[in-house]
Amino acid sequence: MSQLVVGGISELFLVRESGATELLTDAAFIVENGVFAWIGKDSDLSVARTIDCKKRAVIPGFVDSHTHLIFAGDRVSEFEARMAGNPYEAGGIMSTVRATRAASDEELFDLYKKRVQEMLRNGITSFETKSGYGLSVKEELRSLKIASKLTDEVTVLAAHVVPTEYQDKRSEYVKLVMEDILPEAREYASWVDVFCDEGAFTIEETRAILKAATTMGYKKRLHANQLKAGDGVKLGIEMGCVSIEHCSHLGSEDIAVLSESDVVVTLLPIAEFSTRSAYPNARALLDAGVNVALSTDCNPGSSYSSSMSFAIALAVREMRMTPSEALKAATFMGAKALEREDIGAIALGKRADFLILDAPSHAHIAYRPGVDLIAEVFKAGELVLDKGM
Ligand SMILES: [Zn+2]
Repeated sequence: MSQLVVGGISELFLVRESGATELLTDAAFIVENGVFAWIGKDSDLSVARTIDCKKRAVIPGFVDSHTHLIFAGDRVSEFEARMAGNPYEAGGIMSTVRATRAASDEELFDLYKKRVQEMLRNGITSFETKSGYGLSVKEELRSLKIASKLTDEVTVLAAHVVPTEYQDKRSEYVKLVMEDILPEAREYASWVDVFCDEGAFTIEETRAILKAATTMGYKKRLHANQLKAGDGVKLGIEMGCVSIEHCSHLGSEDIAVLSESDVVVTLLPIAEFSTRSAYPNARALLDAGVNVALSTDCNPGSSYSSSMSFAIALAVREMRMTPSEALKAATFMGAKALEREDIGAIALGKRADFLILDAPSHAHIAYRPGVDLIAEVFKAGELVLDKGM
């Protein structure tokens, strides 16, 4: 049996099964065979410590439940133009589609792997990723196959935008997604997603795709209400989506419907930051009792960052979440958005994915924006990264 005894923790960030957060000071824990086996006060430790945290805080590894990592090229000129005053539009996705289609399998995998390593340096120990820059049967399957090499949480987002070649025959593309891409993609992906918004897919198209996905046994998530208010949230709930993502434009009716459901609303504030848009109303969602997760949305168009710490800082500064609400959203709720009970919290029986911070409390993540505070990264009780901080 492998055992790891971690003590000297100034503050241990816990989320109870009820969802309540708790900060345990002067804490310690024991990991056995990769899972948390004992959690308590350092003074109650009866065995020798393997690791002394020296009065630093320990938090769960981040769970990034919304990323788009399979792509080639970048869109820095689009970003520059946007910062000079041009608005963000869904159409820019096609430039990434062209670059992705032109890349070899090896190039795409190497770019993906590099991004995953970058995420790990940023403390992300579990992540979801999607297709959506292929937009043909062959290209979507290629992206999904590559995605599945580094994560179990793969989403088919063939309905990202209607590709240029189908611009005058959108219904044919929707049919291609439902009848050709989805059935074959099931080999690599357990999730399906649709970009339901202005310039992307309509409510009727989204409903048809989600219905088809249901019959094939997919779990469902949805990009909705990012660019405009609309019926995306209501449709997501009606169709049994596990998570509805972006939700930057919500009415009071949307919030009421969400509060009566168990759905997770995944907020992606780096997208608002990078498109200079208004942030979603996280406070109203939390006050209404809605499950709120935070993700990076790492993608080349609207949010090219793998820093969950930055998402947390924005959530606190711009969206009025408390530091502990934001951290719970980036860990426990990220796991809920992926229907994963084995990760996302420091709790007995869960996989021991945790981060030792170079700081005495979790609140420093938001308090010290832009500063790397992630000293050591552990996955299933194994040290996978030590920055020597
Ligand atoms: Zn996205």
